[in-house]
Amino acid sequence: MKSISNQKISGIGMTSQRTRDRLIERLRQQGITNEDVLSVIRNTPRHLFVDEALSHRAYEDTALPIGHGQTISQPYIVARMTQMLLQSGMPTSVLEIGTGCGYQTAVLAQLVPQVYSIERIGALFQQAKKRLADLQLYNVELRHTDGHGGWPNLNYRFDRIIMTAACKDIPRKLAEQLTEGGEMVLPYDNGHEQVLLKITRNKNEFETEAFEAVSFVPLLPGLG
Ligand code: SAH
Repeated sequence: MKSISNQKISGIGMTSQRTRDRLIERLRQQGITNEDVLSVIRNTPRHLFVDEALSHRAYEDTALPIGHGQTISQPYIVARMTQMLLQSGMPTSVLEIGTGCGYQTAVLAQLVPQVYSIERIGALFQQAKKRLADLQLYNVELRHTDGHGGWPNLNYRFDRIIMTAACKDIPRKLAEQLTEGGEMVLPYDNGHEQVLLKITRNKNEFETEAFEAVSFVPLLPGLG
């Protein structure tokens, strides 16, 4: 497990260690049991992923606006989806669709060997790239493109995919970038509500399990 240097972690006032400890306590109460996930969330400076005006709220367990009509995910949901991705063993690489501010990307980068992440909005892609470099998370590759097609021009397959925007149809090309036995975790909009899904690839069949209701921004086509 990698970690971000101490100097970058420490914040002031509401971003203090005590506030972070309270967040971790809350995540435990909500059923997050993976100690590596909890430790990485405790040590990831979420205040650096939001606007300075909102940094005093960075360790609340809530989604926050990041501009361009998008949000930074709630810490609980980041913990929940990360825990799901690691449940059946350590992947060699993870593909994320929807980099946004890069917070989920940063959490994953400290837990798994290699992370690939795609964002459709150019300004968010640029900001995330700078932030992740500042945090010296070098095992991350970012692309500014539409994630419906998965990672462009690739023969390689991923053993985990995480989507952090809600889709109405599961993008076929994306699911096909899963390895045999690979798993994808995503919010799925069934027309009534969004639910968390886990899709497992068995040869060319896709097995689906549904979990709790969630709330994500929509997966949109094209570039923003
Ligand atoms: N992972 C982020 C959550 C970002 S919100 C976090 O840790 O907070 C979801 C992001 O998905 C938004 O930035 C949105 O622009 C992006 N998105 C929506 N549709 C997309 C698509 N088709 N391809 C890539 N990114 C997309």
